[in-house]
Amino acid sequence: MTDLFPAPPVPRVPVRGGGTFPVRRIFCVGRNFADHAREMGAAAPASKTERGQPVFFHKPADALVTGNADVPYPPGTQDLHHEVELVAALGQDAPAGELDPARAQALVVAYGVGLDLTRRDLQGAAKAKGLPWDTGKGFDHSAPISDLVPVADVGDLAALTLTLAVNDHVRQHGALSDLIWDVPEILHELSRLYALKAGDLVFMGTPAGVGPLVAGDRFAASLDGVVEMRGTIV
Ligand code: MN
Repeated sequence: MTDLFPAPPVPRVPVRGGGTFPVRRIFCVGRNFADHAREMGAAAPASKTERGQPVFFHKPADALVTGNADVPYPPGTQDLHHEVELVAALGQDAPAGELDPARAQALVVAYGVGLDLTRRDLQGAAKAKGLPWDTGKGFDHSAPISDLVPVADVGDLAALTLTLAVNDHVRQHGALSDLIWDVPEILHELSRLYALKAGDLVFMGTPAGVGPLVAGDRFAASLDGVVEMRGTIV
């Protein structure tokens, strides 16, 4: 059988030290920092036992922007927002089921930092009607990402912070120790819903301080001391 058109290339993210990470899917976690949940008008859980279920959504794999490339301002919005996030990259498959946390952690092959770019006006309108967030979240160029860093070179995640500066002013800064669901807990929850696969990326949610980006803005996102990503909205 002949393809009707040339098959699109698999999106790939460079890995520090060599090689690339071929991407299968992008899972995203909503409301994973209490301070951000509150700034969006949602209740933040008082404790881990009251945290309920995490909020998941997707972006298409070809929404990734790599290599510090420029990011075009998207159509259909007057309110593009930045959300700086830890990104976990899975290097192994796991069947759907109840993945235990130790096994979950072993799926992660690398980490990076990314932006969950959001058409906040479209997301807000969808939320108000109880409709899905897709058009607010899963658009072209909505997932700028750094190179990935092998887990062995990242160290203790809970000791790290995320920072986003726009035009050299810090807009977001948060400690990964403040995640409501940490990486193995999120992978456990995802495994209850999906068979996880090598090539899956997980955007882990953003701390407080989200806000608008406009054409000409320069952003610098970092997993502090580990990896940085830069770009310009054009
Ligand atoms: Mn987000």
